[in-house]
Amino acid sequence: MTLRIAIVGLGKIANDQHIPAILGSDAFALVAGASHAGSYPGIAMFRDVDDLLGSDVAFDAVAMCQPPQVRFDAAAKAIRAGKHVLLEKPPGTTLAEVAALVGLAEGAGTTLFAAWHSRFASGVADARAWLAERRIDRVRIVWKEDVRRWHPGQQWIWEPGGLGVFDPGINALSIATRILPDLFFLRDGTLEVPANRAAPIAAELDMVTVGGAPVNAVFDWRQEGPQTWDITVDTDDGTMALSHGGAQLAIDGTARPVGAGGEYPALYAHFAGLIGEGRSDVDRTPLRLVADAFLRCRQVQVDAFTD
Ligand code: NAP
Repeated sequence: MTLRIAIVGLGKIANDQHIPAILGSDAFALVAGASHAGSYPGIAMFRDVDDLLGSDVAFDAVAMCQPPQVRFDAAAKAIRAGKHVLLEKPPGTTLAEVAALVGLAEGAGTTLFAAWHSRFASGVADARAWLAERRIDRVRIVWKEDVRRWHPGQQWIWEPGGLGVFDPGINALSIATRILPDLFFLRDGTLEVPANRAAPIAAELDMVTVGGAPVNAVFDWRQEGPQTWDITVDTDDGTMALSHGGAQLAIDGTARPVGAGGEYPALYAHFAGLIGEGRSDVDRTPLRLVADAFLRCRQVQVDAFTD
C-alpha cells in the first residue's frame, strides 16, 4: 500500500532532497505540503501544520523539514493526529524534547524516525562492517566547509538551537557513532563563537572511546576552496578512510567499491520499512555528543561573522 506523505517546511533540504526522493519512491506518494513562502505544483498546499492537519486531505506520514527550533510543536501535533513522523536532523534542539516526542509516538502507536541522512551515505555500511572486526586505535574527524556556500542567508543556524557549525558537524558524529564499534564520549574541547553570533563557527572536540582510543574532531565553517568531510580510523589491521561525507571508502589508500544509491532514497526506504514493521528509530547519540560539547567545552570569542 502506498503511504501518503506531506512535507512541512519547503526550504532548501525539502526541495533539494526530500521531494525528489519521495517522487522517486514506490513506497510514498507526495500529497500535501505546508509552507509559509514556498509551494509545489500538483499537491494540496497549506500555510502551516495546523491548516494541514485541520484539512480534509488524507495522509499517513509527514516529513518535518523546517529548522529544528520550530520542529517540536509541529511534530507533536502530527503525532497526536496519528501521523508517522520523519524528523530531519537534528531531531530536536534538546534531548528532552526528543524524548518527549518518543513518548508521544509510543502512546499514539505511530512511527517516529530521526533521519540521520549521512548514515545512509554509500560507504557507511561497509565501513561499519569492516571496523566491527578490528581494534580501534585512533579516530580523526575533519569536517570543514564554507558556511556562505552551504547556508547562504540562513539565520536560524546562528541562533540558540541552530547548533552553528554542529549543524554539519552532527552529520560527522552521526556517521562516527554508526561505524565505530565502541561508544565514545567527550573529554575536552573548544568552541569558537563569533562576537556577533550565538553559535560556534568552529569547534575542536577531544573524545575517547570506552576502549581508550582517542577520537579527535575538527569542525570549521570558514573553509574556502576544497571542502573536507573525512573520517579516518587507524586500527590494528590498517587504516580506513571514509571521505566525501561517507560517500567514498578506502582501506590503506585503496578505494573500495560502494553502492551507488543516494542518501535520501535509502532514508525513505528505511522510513517505509519502519512504518511497515510498526517501529520507531530515534537514535539520540549524535545529539547527545553535541549537547555535551555545549556543556563541556571552553568557549572562546572570535571575529564577528557577516554573511
Ligand atoms: P531552510 O531552507 O532555512 O528552512 C527550511 C524551511 O523551514 C524554510 O524554507 C521555511 O519553510 C521553514 N522555516 C524556516 N524558518 C522558519 C521559522 N523560523 N519558523 C517556521 N518555519 C521556518 O533550512 P534547510 O537548509 O532546508 O534545513 C532544514 C533542516 O534540514 C535543518 O534541520 C537542517 O539541519 C536539515 N538539513 C539541511 C541540509 C541542507 O543541505 N541545507 C541537509 C540536510 C539536512 P516555509 O517557508 O516553506 O514555511
